[in-house]
This record gives sequence, C-alpha cells and structure tokens, in this order.
Amino acid sequence: MIERAVLATRNPGKLGEFKTLFSGFIFELISLEGLQNPPNIIEDGDTYKANALKKAREICAFTKDLTIADDSGLEVEVLKGKPGVNSARYAGEDADDADNIKKLLNEMQGKRDRRARFICCLALVKPGGEEIVVEGICGGEILEKPRGNGGFGYDPVFLINELDKTMAELTIDEKNSLSHRAKAVNALLELIKNKNT
Ligand code: IMP
Repeated sequence: MIERAVLATRNPGKLGEFKTLFSGFIFELISLEGLQNPPNIIEDGDTYKANALKKAREICAFTKDLTIADDSGLEVEVLKGKPGVNSARYAGEDADDADNIKKLLNEMQGKRDRRARFICCLALVKPGGEEIVVEGICGGEILEKPRGNGGFGYDPVFLINELDKTMAELTIDEKNSLSHRAKAVNALLELIKNKNT
C-alpha cells in the first residue's frame, strides 16, 4: 500500500476515475488542486509519453512525493490519428468539451470509417528517481450525434461497440472496467507487483 501520492492533474473527472482505479493500492491520492502554488506545466511534448513524464517529473520535484501523471487523447483512424496529443485543445486553446466534440463531428461528416481509440500513457516518478511508464488503449467508434451525460471530454460521441453504449452512458464501474485509463493502471499495478515478487 502506498500511503500518499500526487496525481498531476486538475481534471476532476480524471481524479475521480484514478481514485477508484487505485483504491486498495494508494491510500491518499491528491490532485494539483490540493497543493499550494504548484508549478504550471506546459504540455508541449510531441507524444503522450513525453507529456506524462514531464508532468510527473516536475510535480515530483516540487512535492518530493511519489507522483503519477497521465496524458491521454483520442485518435481517429480516418483523421490519421487526430486529435491525438492535442485532444484537449482540438478546437483551440480555450476550447471546452462541447467545442471539441463539435469540431470532431464536423470533420467526420460523411465519413463511413468511424473507428477510433482512446490512449492513456501513465508515468510514475519516485523522489529517488525511479520511473515507470505504461500505456492503455480502448477501441471504439465515433457516433454522428452525442449520447449520454456521464464522463467528460469526448465520451458522449465514443461508442463501445460490445455494449452498444457511449462512454457517457456507462456506469462508473463499467467505464473503469474497460477504459484506456483502467488498462494503463492495471499494467502499472502488474509491473509493480512483479517487481516486488
Ligand atoms: P490531457 O488532460 O492532456 O490528457 O487531455 C486529454 C484530453 O483527451 C481530454 O481533455 C479529453 O478531451 C480527451 N480524453 C482523454 N481521456 C478521455 C476519456 O476518458 N473520455 C473522453 N475524453 C477523454
């Protein structure tokens, strides 16, 4: 059991998901909102890995606590992997979720191939310098219209084919059983378990 860890995010949706996913493994998981004047980190990497490691390293250096950071995004096949690392800023620097979804649906108008995937890269950095990086992927399809009120980001237009539900129509437990973040957390816990055995 890890007593305390910092999650390098301000996104309450992500914090909630990670708290559940790490429950039983991390006792206290605090976000940047729980820190006083944390550094403002510019996510300017070309890859999810570069961004996740940058966030985890800088916050770990600031707090001296074990730090976990993720960088995630949506990749659409027919858009050649866009919005990708720019998922949060797809419709512009100040874009919100609704703006990003609107832009995505416009770009996808008339496209028959709707395949897409969410990717999550997770970096864990310890004050002593140890670093672990893992990735999780969740496949699906982009709908033509949003459905559902749960989740965040692109959830209302991301269909999980097997369940015929969008990510925004899943219960928290369902999302946490199949999401890209859940898969990355499971990969991380597996690695840590193997190290300790
Ligand atoms: P990040 O905070 O830099 O990782 O940006 C990730 C962006 O990708 C978010 O702002 C969302 O737009 C999108 N995203 C990542 N994970 C999810 C998810 O689980 N559901 C919906 N959108 C997501």
